[in-house]
Amino acid sequence: MMYFQVFFALSVLSLTGILVLMIFTSLYEKRKNAALKALLLIPVFLLSLFLLRLPQSLNWVLITIDCVILLVSAYVFAPRFLFKQQAEELPQGNIDERTIMFSRNELKPDTERYKKYYQEFPKHKDNDDRFRMLPGLLSTKSTFYHPLAYRAAEATFQIVDSLHQHVDGKQNEHVTPVSADQFGEFIETWAKKEGVASIGYTKTKDYHWYSVGGRGERYGQAIEQKHQYAIAFTVEMDHEMVMSAPKSSIIMESASQYLRAGIIASQMAQFIRNNGFEARAHIDGNYQVVAPLVARDANLGEIGRMGLLMTPELGPRNRVGVITTNMPLPVSDRKFDDSFEDFCSKCLKCAVNCPATAISKEDKILINNVNRWQINSDKCFKYWYSAGTDCGRCMSTCPYSHPSNLMHNLVRWSIRNFPNFRYWAVKMDDFFYGRISSSAKLPKWMLLN
Ligand code: SF4
Ligand code: SF4
Repeated sequence: MMYFQVFFALSVLSLTGILVLMIFTSLYEKRKNAALKALLLIPVFLLSLFLLRLPQSLNWVLITIDCVILLVSAYVFAPRFLFKQQAEELPQGNIDERTIMFSRNELKPDTERYKKYYQEFPKHKDNDDRFRMLPGLLSTKSTFYHPLAYRAAEATFQIVDSLHQHVDGKQNEHVTPVSADQFGEFIETWAKKEGVASIGYTKTKDYHWYSVGGRGERYGQAIEQKHQYAIAFTVEMDHEMVMSAPKSSIIMESASQYLRAGIIASQMAQFIRNNGFEARAHIDGNYQVVAPLVARDANLGEIGRMGLLMTPELGPRNRVGVITTNMPLPVSDRKFDDSFEDFCSKCLKCAVNCPATAISKEDKILINNVNRWQINSDKCFKYWYSAGTDCGRCMSTCPYSHPSNLMHNLVRWSIRNFPNFRYWAVKMDDFFYGRISSSAKLPKWMLLN
């Protein structure tokens, strides 16, 4: 065989190999449509091997195809260092926690707090009163009511609430004489054994902190920015439970991962206090910081179009836990990764699939000194209140959310490292999984007869 024939054959066989991997991966993930599409493509590639039998006078055909393959590959897989990296923009100012939807949800009509809030922020009143008329989260009247899943989520959230008493406390008088690096290494290894997916350290910044507390006893209290360091970590949301979003599996899974993050954060904060330093865990319903921003600055990922932290390993399919402390930690410099934003600017899949049209399909806009997308949390929350769950369709449809395995990890890695590949990654995801994808059935064990 001539060298150009070998090159052609190897190219076809490599692509066929990727399709075979796709079939096995999709079958394992129960994505039958994707497996079928990959299967149907294989004969097309294999048939092209007949070109190897062309007479010598037509060798130029294969040579031309080889040249096209080479040029296209060089273009699609041009490495990111050949491209100009976007500059990072940092937010300014602090968010008043009272204004976020979770806090507004806790306001009870006819109470003093309710009256005062809407005097100060009258623009929220009409919208908020409308969502209060809807069935509500975990309501028996909501669209995705499931008697057992809702009670399971409720039970888990109750346990999360009971952790609030452990988020803060007095530290030991005796300081353990261990270096920042040793503490950092110990915490990282231990946290991973406890089930975190990723962990990082950062110095806290002014914009990490809420200005005023908005929930429970912290309502209306100025937040004191008393800790210089933060530990941020992510825990994985189960893929199968997420794929049925917005059905009841999603709220069960959210509750479970809030609990896992809450336990680990409380455990770590107590550990740090036992070593003689101040520490506070920031867990569901009891944050003093904007957790995704802390996690981003601890180099765990970037904020995507849907406003959630997207990590290189799991995309948005994660929950974040944070501990702030005055214990010195081995912080590393922030490494801004513009690949997420660039991919989001091409993808828009979450926006297209959001049942509440709450995710922007437009370009980024300048908010608090940062060009970014902003989701319409009023619309999102209103949908939650009729669905009865925390929806999660955006998370389930995101191409970054696929399970962690050879094929998807390779795609995620290529998205980060080859800017021109991003466009094709979106097209491939649309082809195999559908641009508008339907929500999966509930896991079998959750079905009630
Ligand atoms: S959670 Fe649901 S409603 Fe909210 S932004 Fe995501 S897809 Fe839209
Ligand atoms: S679905 Fe697409 S646009 Fe939305 S966050 Fe994921 S990658 Fe970004």
